[in-house]
Amino acid sequence: MKLHEYQSKLIFAEYGVPIPKGSVAATASEAKQIAEELGGRVVVKSQVLVGGRGKAGGIRLAKSPAEAEELATQILSMEIKGLPVRKVLIDEAADIQHEIYLGITNDRAARRPVMMASSEGGVDIEEVARVTPEKIIRAHIDPLLGLQGYQARDIAAGIDLPRELWRSFGKIAEGLWQAYKQSDATLAEINPLVITHDNKLVAVDGKMVLDDSALFRHPELADKRDLDIEASAEIEARKYGLSFIKLDGDIGCMVNGAGLAMTSMDVIKFFGGEPANFLDIGGGANAEKVAAAFRIILSDPNIKAILINIFGGITRGDEVARGILAAMEEVKPDVPMVVRLVGTNAEEGRKLLADAKMITADTLADAAQKAVAAAKGETK
Ligand code: GDP
Ligand code: MN
Repeated sequence: MKLHEYQSKLIFAEYGVPIPKGSVAATASEAKQIAEELGGRVVVKSQVLVGGRGKAGGIRLAKSPAEAEELATQILSMEIKGLPVRKVLIDEAADIQHEIYLGITNDRAARRPVMMASSEGGVDIEEVARVTPEKIIRAHIDPLLGLQGYQARDIAAGIDLPRELWRSFGKIAEGLWQAYKQSDATLAEINPLVITHDNKLVAVDGKMVLDDSALFRHPELADKRDLDIEASAEIEARKYGLSFIKLDGDIGCMVNGAGLAMTSMDVIKFFGGEPANFLDIGGGANAEKVAAAFRIILSDPNIKAILINIFGGITRGDEVARGILAAMEEVKPDVPMVVRLVGTNAEEGRKLLADAKMITADTLADAAQKAVAAAKGETK
């Protein structure tokens, strides 16, 4: 789950990272009012969950409250990379001398978080990594020991930070690490961390990505979710506790277990098909959950066939079958469906489905081939 800039910066601030004074507005008149309270120059910043807002015209400097109002009107009517701008952040404009990059993410290969910094901030860090990789300084953080003082100093030295800013930089690095750790984030990034003309460090931009699997520990963070960026099917899926990810193909998949779902997708691809989604209905899914899964799959207009692959363990075959029948009553699908049902109560399940004009299969390979053929219109 991604957090907006203003949300990320407020979290950083809780951990002692200096951020500009500012506030978020949903209308141009609110923007003007905030600009009046701040006095002087402000920056009007679109709050959308994509990078490169600056280049897209979504970050503008205003010299007066009236100009802030005007820019807010423009920005609030924009779409950036397909996302509508619903809010703008009005921040006191920073007087920028130099822009630095500072971020933490998980380094899977090293099996620990890594702090990265660069003297080339403000720009796309992937670009820096590609063109001048030597300009990125890294320090792996032991999750039990935390960020060590010497590591922050090594980084400060590595990015040629003026000596008088090391203390302040150390606090910011520690604050960012705490924000990352305490929020169960997978990314916490300040780009740019600026050196102002009066020689202070300020986090002008902020970005956080939280680990969805840890969100249950942070209900206050989970509430910050921006529903604009998520397909409505994914929101619906979450409501029913289904793991669903939409893909570009035309074969809908309904599977229990993430591993089995991945395998089913691989086998579909192996036989020349393209899965339309990843969907794990989980263990012990009841009829209601199966019906929801079914509706979600069928809401995709690209669907040409559905493969249902259920290994009954805790999940009972007859429950799944009842869910499918209930959903069929409701949505009346007109695409071919291939079902492979094995395990607990599979026999009862198959009997229930016998009248429902489904293509049955005994093995996953058989089922996948039938689904691929059905999607190509090769079977009726
Ligand atoms: P992004 O484009 O989505 O990464 O948005 P940022 O918040 O990083 O802003 C992009 C760029 O706009 C920054 O790298 C700065 O160069 C500039 N910028 C942002 N805020 C200010 C500010 O308060 N004052 C000045 N002078 N420039 C700013
Ligand atoms: Mn930025």
